[in-house]
Amino acid sequence: MPTAWLSRRSPSAAPSGMGDRAEGLGPTRRKLRSVHELPTAGKRVLVRVDCNVAVDEESRPLPRTDQRLRAILPTVEYLRGSGARVLLLSHLGRPDGRVVEALRLDDIARRLGVLLGAPVRYIPSMRGQIARSAAATLRAGEILLLENLRFDPGEERADPSFAADLASLGDAVVQDAFADAHRRHASVAVLPTLLPSAAGLLVESEVAALQRILDAPDRPVVAIMGGAKLETKLGLVANLLPRVDHLLTGGGIANTFLHIAGLHVDRGLVDAHPPAEAVDLFARFRARIHLPTDVRVQRAGMRESLILPVSAVTAADEILDVGPETTETYCQALVGATLCVWNGPLGRFETPPFDTGTTVIARCLASARAFSVVGGGDTVRALEELGLTDAFDHVSTGGGAMLAFLSGDEMPGLEPLYEGA
Ligand code: ADP
Ligand code: MG
Repeated sequence: MPTAWLSRRSPSAAPSGMGDRAEGLGPTRRKLRSVHELPTAGKRVLVRVDCNVAVDEESRPLPRTDQRLRAILPTVEYLRGSGARVLLLSHLGRPDGRVVEALRLDDIARRLGVLLGAPVRYIPSMRGQIARSAAATLRAGEILLLENLRFDPGEERADPSFAADLASLGDAVVQDAFADAHRRHASVAVLPTLLPSAAGLLVESEVAALQRILDAPDRPVVAIMGGAKLETKLGLVANLLPRVDHLLTGGGIANTFLHIAGLHVDRGLVDAHPPAEAVDLFARFRARIHLPTDVRVQRAGMRESLILPVSAVTAADEILDVGPETTETYCQALVGATLCVWNGPLGRFETPPFDTGTTVIARCLASARAFSVVGGGDTVRALEELGLTDAFDHVSTGGGAMLAFLSGDEMPGLEPLYEGA
Protein backbone atom coordinates (compact mmCIF):
# COMPACT_ATOMS: atom_id res chain seq x y z
CA MET A 1 0.00 0.00 0.00
CA PRO A 2 1.28 3.49 -0.78
CA THR A 3 2.36 5.64 2.12
CA ALA A 4 1.18 8.81 0.41
CA TRP A 5 -2.40 8.51 1.61
CA LEU A 6 -2.35 11.64 3.64
CA SER A 7 -0.39 13.85 1.30
CA ARG A 8 -2.16 15.87 -1.34
CA ARG A 9 -1.59 14.57 -4.81
CA SER A 10 1.61 15.79 -6.39
CA PRO A 11 1.28 17.41 -9.84
CA SER A 12 3.11 14.51 -11.49
CA ALA A 13 0.42 12.17 -10.24
CA ALA A 14 -2.42 14.30 -11.58
CA PRO A 15 -5.31 12.17 -12.77
CA SER A 16 -4.81 11.51 -16.46
CA GLY A 17 -8.47 12.18 -17.09
CA MET A 18 -8.21 15.83 -16.00
CA GLY A 19 -8.41 16.90 -19.64
CA ASP A 20 -11.77 15.15 -19.95
CA ARG A 21 -12.95 16.95 -16.87
CA ALA A 22 -12.14 20.34 -18.34
CA GLU A 23 -13.91 19.80 -21.66
CA GLY A 24 -16.38 16.98 -21.92
CA LEU A 25 -18.49 18.00 -18.98
CA GLY A 26 -21.77 17.52 -20.79
CA PRO A 27 -24.61 18.25 -18.42
CA THR A 28 -22.33 19.08 -15.55
CA ARG A 29 -22.08 22.82 -16.19
CA ARG A 30 -25.77 23.24 -16.86
CA LYS A 31 -28.15 24.62 -14.31
CA LEU A 32 -31.44 23.10 -13.31
CA ARG A 33 -34.47 25.36 -13.18
CA SER A 34 -35.45 25.61 -9.51
CA VAL A 35 -38.91 25.24 -8.02
CA HIS A 36 -38.21 28.59 -6.36
CA GLU A 37 -38.35 30.26 -9.79
CA LEU A 38 -41.60 28.59 -10.82
CA PRO A 39 -44.82 30.62 -10.34
CA THR A 40 -46.87 28.31 -8.11
CA ALA A 41 -49.30 30.43 -6.04
CA GLY A 42 -52.84 29.31 -6.80
CA LYS A 43 -51.56 26.99 -9.55
CA ARG A 44 -52.22 23.27 -9.86
CA VAL A 45 -48.72 21.85 -9.53
CA LEU A 46 -48.09 18.25 -10.55
CA VAL A 47 -45.25 16.97 -8.40
CA ARG A 48 -43.54 13.73 -9.47
CA VAL A 49 -42.25 12.21 -6.24
CA ASP A 50 -40.80 8.82 -5.41
CA CYS A 51 -42.97 7.03 -2.84
CA ASN A 52 -41.59 3.68 -3.97
CA VAL A 53 -40.89 2.46 -0.44
CA ALA A 54 -39.89 -1.13 0.31
CA VAL A 55 -42.90 -3.38 0.86
CA ASP A 56 -43.39 -6.74 2.58
CA GLU A 57 -44.77 -9.92 0.98
CA GLU A 58 -48.29 -8.53 1.29
CA SER A 59 -47.03 -5.35 -0.34
CA ARG A 60 -47.58 -3.34 2.85
CA PRO A 61 -44.89 -0.68 3.41
CA LEU A 62 -42.18 -1.77 5.84
CA PRO A 63 -41.70 0.33 8.98
CA ARG A 64 -38.11 1.29 8.16
CA THR A 65 -39.07 2.87 4.85
CA ASP A 66 -39.89 6.42 5.89
CA GLN A 67 -36.61 7.83 4.56
CA ARG A 68 -37.89 8.11 0.98
CA LEU A 69 -41.13 9.71 2.13
CA ARG A 70 -39.36 12.13 4.45
CA ALA A 71 -37.08 13.15 1.57
CA ILE A 72 -40.00 14.60 -0.40
CA LEU A 73 -41.44 16.66 2.47
CA PRO A 74 -39.40 19.85 1.89
CA THR A 75 -40.75 20.31 -1.64
CA VAL A 76 -44.32 19.49 -0.65
CA GLU A 77 -44.14 21.83 2.32
CA TYR A 78 -42.63 24.59 0.20
CA LEU A 79 -45.39 24.27 -2.41
CA ARG A 80 -48.14 24.19 0.19
CA GLY A 81 -46.67 27.28 1.79
CA SER A 82 -46.56 29.04 -1.56
CA GLY A 83 -50.32 28.54 -1.97
CA ALA A 84 -50.08 25.89 -4.68
CA ARG A 85 -52.68 23.16 -5.22
CA VAL A 86 -50.45 20.12 -4.91
CA LEU A 87 -51.05 17.00 -6.99
CA LEU A 88 -48.59 14.25 -6.09
CA LEU A 89 -47.69 11.59 -8.67
CA SER A 90 -45.77 8.42 -7.81
CA HIS A 91 -45.34 4.76 -8.59
CA LEU A 92 -45.00 1.85 -6.17
CA GLY A 93 -43.55 -1.56 -6.98
CA ARG A 94 -43.84 -3.29 -10.33
CA PRO A 95 -47.51 -3.75 -11.21
CA ASP A 96 -46.56 -3.89 -14.92
CA GLY A 97 -49.37 -1.78 -16.32
CA ARG A 98 -52.19 -3.52 -14.40
CA VAL A 99 -54.12 -2.62 -11.26
CA VAL A 100 -52.67 -4.55 -8.31
CA GLU A 101 -54.85 -3.97 -5.24
CA ALA A 102 -51.97 -4.30 -2.77
CA LEU A 103 -49.99 -1.60 -4.60
CA ARG A 104 -52.61 1.13 -4.30
CA LEU A 105 -51.29 4.34 -2.74
CA ASP A 106 -53.92 4.83 -0.01
CA ASP A 107 -51.51 3.75 2.77
CA ILE A 108 -48.82 6.03 1.39
CA ALA A 109 -51.25 8.99 1.42
CA ARG A 110 -52.09 8.29 5.06
CA ARG A 111 -48.42 8.02 6.02
CA LEU A 112 -47.54 11.21 4.15
CA GLY A 113 -50.38 12.95 5.94
CA VAL A 114 -48.92 11.95 9.31
CA LEU A 115 -45.42 13.09 8.33
CA LEU A 116 -46.71 16.41 6.95
CA GLY A 117 -49.20 17.01 9.75
CA ALA A 118 -51.77 17.83 7.07
CA PRO A 119 -54.38 15.77 5.25
CA VAL A 120 -53.30 14.14 1.99
CA ARG A 121 -56.30 13.21 -0.12
CA TYR A 122 -56.07 10.07 -2.24
CA ILE A 123 -58.05 9.05 -5.29
CA PRO A 124 -57.84 5.59 -6.89
CA SER A 125 -57.19 7.02 -10.34
CA MET A 126 -54.66 9.09 -12.29
CA ARG A 127 -56.48 9.85 -15.56
CA GLY A 128 -60.04 10.27 -16.74
CA GLN A 129 -63.09 11.86 -15.15
CA ILE A 130 -62.34 11.00 -11.49
CA ALA A 131 -58.87 12.50 -11.68
CA ARG A 132 -60.07 15.61 -13.55
CA SER A 133 -62.83 16.43 -11.08
CA ALA A 134 -60.54 15.81 -8.07
CA ALA A 135 -57.96 18.15 -9.59
CA ALA A 136 -60.64 20.75 -10.35
CA THR A 137 -61.96 20.85 -6.79
CA LEU A 138 -58.54 21.05 -5.14
CA ARG A 139 -58.04 24.31 -3.24
CA ALA A 140 -54.88 26.33 -2.61
CA GLY A 141 -52.63 24.59 -0.05
CA GLU A 142 -54.42 21.25 -0.40
CA ILE A 143 -52.62 18.03 -1.29
CA LEU A 144 -53.88 15.19 -3.44
CA LEU A 145 -52.10 11.91 -4.16
CA LEU A 146 -53.14 10.24 -7.40
CA GLU A 147 -53.06 6.47 -7.97
CA ASN A 148 -49.96 4.37 -8.70
CA LEU A 149 -48.76 5.57 -12.11
CA ARG A 150 -47.53 2.11 -13.12
CA PHE A 151 -51.09 0.77 -13.06
CA ASP A 152 -51.25 2.37 -16.52
CA PRO A 153 -49.12 0.71 -19.23
CA GLY A 154 -48.47 4.18 -20.68
CA GLU A 155 -46.17 5.14 -17.79
CA GLU A 156 -43.29 2.75 -18.45
CA ARG A 157 -43.77 2.99 -22.22
CA ALA A 158 -43.39 6.78 -22.05
CA ASP A 159 -46.69 7.02 -23.91
CA PRO A 160 -47.22 10.67 -25.02
CA SER A 161 -51.01 10.42 -24.64
CA PHE A 162 -50.64 9.23 -21.03
CA ALA A 163 -48.26 12.11 -20.34
CA ALA A 164 -50.72 14.51 -22.01
CA ASP A 165 -53.56 13.23 -19.79
CA LEU A 166 -51.43 13.85 -16.70
CA ALA A 167 -50.50 17.31 -17.98
CA SER A 168 -54.18 18.19 -18.46
CA LEU A 169 -54.61 17.97 -14.66
CA GLY A 170 -52.18 20.78 -13.83
CA ASP A 171 -50.60 24.11 -14.74
CA ALA A 172 -46.96 23.27 -13.90
CA VAL A 173 -44.69 20.32 -13.13
CA VAL A 174 -42.12 19.85 -10.40
CA GLN A 175 -39.84 16.83 -10.78
CA ASP A 176 -38.64 15.63 -7.38
CA ALA A 177 -38.31 11.88 -8.01
CA PHE A 178 -34.54 11.67 -8.21
CA ALA A 179 -34.67 7.89 -7.80
CA ASP A 180 -36.50 7.67 -11.14
CA ALA A 181 -34.56 10.31 -13.06
CA HIS A 182 -32.59 7.68 -15.01
CA ARG A 183 -35.82 6.24 -16.46
CA ARG A 184 -37.48 7.23 -19.70
CA HIS A 185 -41.01 7.00 -18.32
CA ALA A 186 -43.99 9.19 -19.14
CA SER A 187 -44.30 11.08 -15.85
CA VAL A 188 -40.54 11.51 -15.55
CA ALA A 189 -39.23 12.25 -19.03
CA VAL A 190 -42.25 13.45 -21.03
CA LEU A 191 -44.57 15.26 -18.61
CA PRO A 192 -42.03 18.01 -17.73
CA THR A 193 -41.76 18.88 -21.44
CA LEU A 194 -45.49 19.62 -21.68
CA LEU A 195 -45.87 22.31 -18.99
CA PRO A 196 -43.66 24.90 -17.29
CA SER A 197 -41.40 22.69 -15.16
CA ALA A 198 -38.62 22.78 -12.58
CA ALA A 199 -36.56 20.57 -10.31
CA GLY A 200 -37.78 20.02 -6.76
CA LEU A 201 -35.64 20.53 -3.68
CA LEU A 202 -34.67 16.84 -3.37
CA VAL A 203 -33.55 16.65 -6.99
CA GLU A 204 -31.57 19.87 -6.49
CA SER A 205 -29.78 18.56 -3.42
CA GLU A 206 -29.06 15.14 -4.98
CA VAL A 207 -27.64 16.70 -8.13
CA ALA A 208 -25.56 19.22 -6.16
CA ALA A 209 -24.00 16.51 -3.96
CA LEU A 210 -23.28 14.10 -6.82
CA GLN A 211 -22.03 16.88 -9.08
CA ARG A 212 -19.58 17.85 -6.36
CA ILE A 213 -18.09 14.36 -6.60
CA LEU A 214 -17.77 14.60 -10.40
CA ASP A 215 -16.32 18.11 -10.31
CA ALA A 216 -14.11 17.21 -7.36
CA PRO A 217 -13.07 20.76 -6.52
CA ASP A 218 -11.24 19.65 -3.39
CA ARG A 219 -8.56 16.99 -3.21
CA PRO A 220 -7.94 14.28 -2.28
CA VAL A 221 -11.08 12.54 -3.44
CA VAL A 222 -11.68 8.98 -2.32
CA ALA A 223 -14.22 6.56 -3.75
CA ILE A 224 -15.18 3.39 -1.91
CA MET A 225 -16.73 0.74 -4.09
CA GLY A 226 -17.90 -2.73 -3.21
CA GLY A 227 -21.01 -4.80 -3.66
CA ALA A 228 -21.99 -6.68 -6.76
CA LYS A 229 -19.87 -7.87 -9.63
CA LEU A 230 -17.64 -5.34 -11.36
CA GLU A 231 -19.45 -5.89 -14.65
CA THR A 232 -22.61 -4.21 -13.31
CA LYS A 233 -20.68 -1.17 -12.11
CA LEU A 234 -18.05 -0.85 -14.79
CA GLY A 235 -19.54 2.40 -16.14
CA LEU A 236 -19.31 3.94 -12.69
CA VAL A 237 -15.76 2.74 -12.07
CA ALA A 238 -14.71 4.02 -15.51
CA ASN A 239 -16.21 7.46 -14.92
CA LEU A 240 -14.87 7.83 -11.38
CA LEU A 241 -11.30 6.59 -11.88
CA PRO A 242 -10.13 9.64 -13.88
CA ARG A 243 -11.63 11.92 -11.20
CA VAL A 244 -10.58 10.37 -7.92
CA ASP A 245 -7.24 10.04 -6.20
CA HIS A 246 -7.99 6.72 -4.57
CA LEU A 247 -10.47 3.96 -5.27
CA LEU A 248 -10.82 1.66 -2.27
CA THR A 249 -12.32 -1.64 -3.34
CA GLY A 250 -14.20 -4.44 -1.63
CA GLY A 251 -16.92 -6.96 -2.50
CA GLY A 252 -17.22 -8.36 -6.00
CA ILE A 253 -15.31 -5.45 -7.52
CA ALA A 254 -12.22 -6.20 -5.42
CA ASN A 255 -12.55 -9.91 -6.17
CA THR A 256 -12.51 -9.25 -9.90
CA PHE A 257 -9.55 -6.89 -9.71
CA LEU A 258 -7.69 -9.44 -7.56
CA HIS A 259 -8.46 -12.03 -10.22
CA ILE A 260 -7.12 -9.69 -12.91
CA ALA A 261 -4.03 -9.15 -10.75
CA GLY A 262 -3.41 -12.90 -10.96
CA LEU A 263 -4.68 -14.13 -7.59
CA HIS A 264 -6.65 -17.32 -7.09
CA VAL A 265 -10.12 -15.86 -6.79
CA ASP A 266 -12.32 -18.52 -8.29
CA ARG A 267 -15.30 -18.80 -5.99
CA GLY A 268 -18.11 -16.46 -4.99
CA LEU A 269 -18.76 -12.98 -6.31
CA VAL A 270 -16.22 -12.60 -9.12
CA ASP A 271 -16.28 -12.01 -12.87
CA ALA A 272 -14.40 -15.12 -13.95
CA HIS A 273 -14.01 -13.64 -17.44
CA PRO A 274 -13.62 -9.92 -16.78
CA PRO A 275 -14.57 -7.60 -19.63
CA ALA A 276 -11.64 -6.17 -21.56
CA GLU A 277 -12.52 -2.68 -20.29
CA ALA A 278 -11.98 -3.85 -16.70
CA VAL A 279 -8.54 -5.21 -17.55
CA ASP A 280 -7.69 -1.99 -19.36
CA LEU A 281 -8.89 0.24 -16.48
CA PHE A 282 -6.89 -1.82 -14.02
CA ALA A 283 -3.71 -1.33 -16.06
CA ARG A 284 -4.29 2.40 -16.69
CA PHE A 285 -5.25 3.35 -13.15
CA ARG A 286 -3.29 0.75 -11.20
CA ALA A 287 -1.77 3.36 -8.87
CA ARG A 288 -5.19 4.62 -7.78
CA ILE A 289 -6.92 1.29 -7.34
CA HIS A 290 -6.48 -0.12 -3.86
CA LEU A 291 -7.11 -3.79 -3.39
CA PRO A 292 -7.58 -5.60 -0.10
CA THR A 293 -4.31 -6.95 1.29
CA ASP A 294 -6.14 -9.34 3.60
CA VAL A 295 -9.62 -10.88 3.43
CA ARG A 296 -12.10 -12.85 5.48
CA VAL A 297 -13.00 -16.08 3.72
CA GLN A 298 -15.25 -19.06 4.15
CA ARG A 299 -13.26 -22.20 3.40
CA ALA A 300 -15.13 -25.17 1.97
CA GLY A 301 -15.83 -27.71 4.72
CA MET A 302 -14.99 -25.35 7.60
CA ARG A 303 -17.45 -23.78 10.04
CA GLU A 304 -15.46 -20.77 11.18
CA SER A 305 -14.35 -18.03 8.82
CA LEU A 306 -10.63 -17.34 8.30
CA ILE A 307 -8.66 -14.13 7.90
CA LEU A 308 -5.92 -14.54 5.31
CA PRO A 309 -3.46 -12.38 3.41
CA VAL A 310 -4.71 -12.27 -0.19
CA SER A 311 -1.64 -14.22 -1.32
CA ALA A 312 -2.77 -17.18 0.82
CA VAL A 313 -6.28 -17.48 -0.65
CA THR A 314 -6.83 -20.96 -2.10
CA ALA A 315 -9.33 -22.47 -4.52
CA ALA A 316 -11.33 -23.70 -1.52
CA ASP A 317 -11.90 -20.16 -0.18
CA GLU A 318 -14.76 -17.80 -0.88
CA ILE A 319 -13.82 -14.18 -0.16
CA LEU A 320 -16.74 -12.65 1.74
CA ASP A 321 -15.23 -9.57 3.38
CA VAL A 322 -12.13 -7.41 3.56
CA GLY A 323 -9.75 -8.09 6.46
CA PRO A 324 -8.62 -5.89 9.40
CA GLU A 325 -5.31 -4.82 7.85
CA THR A 326 -7.23 -3.60 4.79
CA THR A 327 -9.82 -1.63 6.77
CA GLU A 328 -6.99 -0.05 8.75
CA THR A 329 -5.29 1.12 5.55
CA TYR A 330 -8.58 2.28 4.03
CA CYS A 331 -9.41 4.26 7.18
CA GLN A 332 -6.11 6.12 6.91
CA ALA A 333 -7.10 7.16 3.38
CA LEU A 334 -10.47 8.36 4.63
CA VAL A 335 -8.95 10.42 7.42
CA GLY A 336 -7.05 12.47 4.83
CA ALA A 337 -9.88 12.81 2.31
CA THR A 338 -11.82 16.01 1.61
CA LEU A 339 -14.47 14.35 -0.53
CA CYS A 340 -15.67 10.77 -0.40
CA VAL A 341 -18.28 8.80 -2.30
CA TRP A 342 -19.28 5.28 -1.25
CA ASN A 343 -21.32 2.71 -3.12
CA GLY A 344 -21.47 -0.99 -2.38
CA PRO A 345 -20.95 -2.93 0.86
CA LEU A 346 -17.40 -4.24 1.31
CA GLY A 347 -18.58 -7.74 2.17
CA ARG A 348 -21.64 -9.91 2.56
CA PHE A 349 -22.86 -7.69 5.39
CA GLU A 350 -26.13 -9.61 5.83
CA THR A 351 -24.17 -12.53 7.30
CA PRO A 352 -21.94 -11.75 10.31
CA PRO A 353 -18.99 -11.75 10.72
CA PHE A 354 -18.79 -10.67 7.05
CA ASP A 355 -20.34 -7.33 8.04
CA THR A 356 -17.16 -6.31 9.85
CA GLY A 357 -15.41 -4.52 6.98
CA THR A 358 -18.52 -2.50 6.05
CA THR A 359 -19.11 -1.60 9.71
CA VAL A 360 -15.54 -0.46 10.37
CA ILE A 361 -15.43 1.64 7.20
CA ALA A 362 -18.87 3.15 7.91
CA ARG A 363 -17.76 4.29 11.40
CA CYS A 364 -14.50 5.58 10.04
CA LEU A 365 -16.13 7.63 7.27
CA ALA A 366 -18.81 8.86 9.66
CA SER A 367 -16.15 10.43 11.86
CA ALA A 368 -13.89 11.67 9.05
CA ARG A 369 -13.99 15.34 8.05
CA ALA A 370 -14.58 14.54 4.37
CA PHE A 371 -17.77 15.69 2.67
CA SER A 372 -19.37 12.26 2.36
CA VAL A 373 -21.86 11.01 -0.19
CA VAL A 374 -23.25 7.50 0.19
CA GLY A 375 -25.77 5.63 -1.91
CA GLY A 376 -27.01 2.37 -3.35
CA GLY A 377 -29.98 0.31 -2.17
CA ASP A 378 -27.95 -2.22 -0.19
CA THR A 379 -25.38 0.30 1.00
CA VAL A 380 -28.06 2.53 2.52
CA ARG A 381 -29.75 -0.52 4.05
CA ALA A 382 -26.45 -1.53 5.68
CA LEU A 383 -25.93 2.00 7.03
CA GLU A 384 -29.52 2.16 8.31
CA GLU A 385 -28.95 -1.08 10.21
CA LEU A 386 -25.90 0.51 11.79
CA GLY A 387 -27.95 3.58 12.68
CA LEU A 388 -25.43 5.76 10.87
CA THR A 389 -27.34 7.42 8.05
CA ASP A 390 -27.39 10.79 9.85
CA ALA A 391 -23.61 10.78 10.08
CA PHE A 392 -23.05 11.39 6.35
CA ASP A 393 -23.41 14.65 4.44
CA HIS A 394 -25.58 13.19 1.72
CA VAL A 395 -27.44 9.88 1.64
CA SER A 396 -28.78 9.44 -1.87
CA THR A 397 -32.38 8.31 -2.34
CA GLY A 398 -31.46 7.03 -5.79
CA GLY A 399 -29.90 3.59 -6.12
CA GLY A 400 -29.81 3.10 -9.89
CA ALA A 401 -30.23 6.84 -10.49
CA MET A 402 -27.17 7.70 -8.42
CA LEU A 403 -25.10 5.07 -10.25
CA ALA A 404 -26.33 6.39 -13.61
CA PHE A 405 -25.59 10.01 -12.72
CA LEU A 406 -22.09 9.21 -11.44
CA SER A 407 -21.49 7.01 -14.49
CA GLY A 408 -22.15 10.04 -16.71
CA ASP A 409 -25.18 8.37 -18.31
CA GLU A 410 -27.98 10.42 -19.80
CA MET A 411 -30.68 11.22 -17.26
CA PRO A 412 -34.03 11.47 -19.14
CA GLY A 413 -35.76 12.78 -16.01
CA LEU A 414 -33.33 15.68 -15.61
CA GLU A 415 -32.89 16.67 -19.27
CA PRO A 416 -36.14 18.70 -19.55
CA LEU A 417 -35.31 20.60 -16.34
CA TYR A 418 -32.08 22.27 -17.45
CA GLU A 419 -32.17 25.98 -18.26
CA GLY A 420 -32.60 26.40 -21.97
CA ALA A 421 -34.12 22.94 -22.41
P1 ADP B 1 -25.83 -1.37 -3.77
O1 ADP B 1 -27.27 -1.85 -3.80
O2 ADP B 1 -25.54 -0.55 -2.55
O3 ADP B 1 -25.44 -0.67 -5.05
P2 ADP B 1 -24.85 -3.94 -4.60
O4 ADP B 1 -26.22 -4.31 -5.02
O5 ADP B 1 -23.85 -3.71 -5.66
O6 ADP B 1 -24.89 -2.67 -3.62
O7 ADP B 1 -24.24 -5.09 -3.68
C1 ADP B 1 -24.79 -5.44 -2.47
C2 ADP B 1 -24.64 -6.91 -2.21
O8 ADP B 1 -23.31 -7.34 -2.39
C3 ADP B 1 -25.01 -7.28 -0.79
O9 ADP B 1 -26.11 -8.15 -0.83
C4 ADP B 1 -23.77 -7.94 -0.22
O10 ADP B 1 -24.07 -9.08 0.56
C5 ADP B 1 -23.06 -8.38 -1.46
N1 ADP B 1 -21.62 -8.55 -1.27
C6 ADP B 1 -20.68 -7.62 -1.03
N2 ADP B 1 -19.46 -8.18 -0.95
C7 ADP B 1 -19.62 -9.50 -1.14
C8 ADP B 1 -18.73 -10.62 -1.19
N3 ADP B 1 -17.40 -10.48 -1.02
N4 ADP B 1 -19.26 -11.84 -1.43
C9 ADP B 1 -20.59 -11.99 -1.60
N5 ADP B 1 -21.47 -10.99 -1.58
C10 ADP B 1 -21.00 -9.75 -1.35
MG1 MG C 1 -28.12 -3.57 -4.68
